[in-house]
Amino acid sequence: MPPIINKEMCISCGKCYDVCPHDVFYNSVEGEVPVVSYPEECWHEAACVAECPVGAIKLRTPLQMMISYME
Ligand code: SF4
Repeated sequence: MPPIINKEMCISCGKCYDVCPHDVFYNSVEGEVPVVSYPEECWHEAACVAECPVGAIKLRTPLQMMISYME
């Protein structure tokens, strides 16, 4: 599942699309709320969640990935 951005919390700093190693936020414009252009590119590393200074991003991890992390 793609990152979900709370547009009311987002301060358009761009840290999420700067840190993402994939094209999830492709075509995002500096100074605007990022766009999730390619959600299928998300590998759920949660780098964007960690970098967001205001907690505006949530990731919904697919069930099959949650199971693979269980001990
Ligand atoms: S890191 Fe957070 S506040 Fe900054 S642009 Fe991304 S979602 Fe918005």
